Amino acid sequence: RQGDASPASVEYHALMMFTKVDKSRGLQAKFQVAVRSMAKHGSFLEGEALVLHFVSDEASRELGEKMLPELLMDATFLYQVVFHDVSSLSEKLLPIVEVMQKHFSAGSGAYFSDAIFFLSVAMHRIMPAEMKRIVQLDLDLKFRSNIRDLFQEFSHFPPGAVIGIGPELQPVYRHMFWQYRKENPKSKVGEPPPDGQPGFNSGVMLLDLEAMRRSALYNQLLEPGRVAGLAEKYHLQGHLGDQDFFSLIGMEHPELFSPLPCGWNRQLCTWWRDHGYGDVFQLYYRCEGPVHIYHGNCNTSIPDD
Ligand code: UDP
Ligand code: MN
Repeated sequence: RQGDASPASVEYHALMMFTKVDKSRGLQAKFQVAVRSMAKHGSFLEGEALVLHFVSDEASRELGEKMLPELLMDATFLYQVVFHDVSSLSEKLLPIVEVMQKHFSAGSGAYFSDAIFFLSVAMHRIMPAEMKRIVQLDLDLKFRSNIRDLFQEFSHFPPGAVIGIGPELQPVYRHMFWQYRKENPKSKVGEPPPDGQPGFNSGVMLLDLEAMRRSALYNQLLEPGRVAGLAEKYHLQGHLGDQDFFSLIGMEHPELFSPLPCGWNRQLCTWWRDHGYGDVFQLYYRCEGPVHIYHGNCNTSIPDD
């Protein structure tokens, strides 16, 4: 449990964005479900600990500190909680991600407050070099499996892969890449699985920080000129932050990504089914195999089990 004097020999790092939570009862409820289910199904070996990182503002941090002990009450494993100040992280991120904000943020300006939506793309430059791996998780999740098993997915990374991420389960990139698809009718861009490239969903991500630091290709793709060039080539104007960036570079360089089974990020949002894509929706939405994590994205309620 927390506060144990003997340091764990193996640390598993997980990070969640946790801002403006004090202002939203909805987010508080999601946070409770995510952490309680994580604690309930989590199981670790002796000498291992889960380190939970939260990126928050002052008020959210205070609320989180108050709520966490009870939410983690049933945890049978060692854990540690670390809060990171959202403004200090944003300040470090801004110069790296400024160009991405222009292409993948709602609105067109490079707002300071939006930089944090690109934390994952530059996590390898933000976290200390001793940290080799981290998973980033949304708050609107419900675990049905042991979070430790998610970390085992790191061992399935093919050579050259730097990030593990699951498919976007709606035809959102079929929509956003419409112009490129029109000009390139045989392309797999935006096509459904198993043969197409539906794009990625950033609700559950495995960041191999060591591989991200080492990869010459990945770091080149962060350069402003490369980002702008790819956004232009694919005619992509997005608004979903890191998810748009990863989906874009994944179209060009799929080998950078290790496919995460859809059951580890079983998104439930069906918005695009009712907005012009009913005919192809199931091709994207279908997810066979066990559900390890439900993702109640776009405020979709999560089944009781
Ligand atoms: N988030 C946050 N404060 C907010 C809104 C979002 O901390 O006011 C974080 C939270 O971790 C959330 C993530 O950003 O899970 C992504 O937002 P959300 O899950 O609502 O997006 P969706 O999955 O529905 O696209
Ligand atoms: Mn989400």
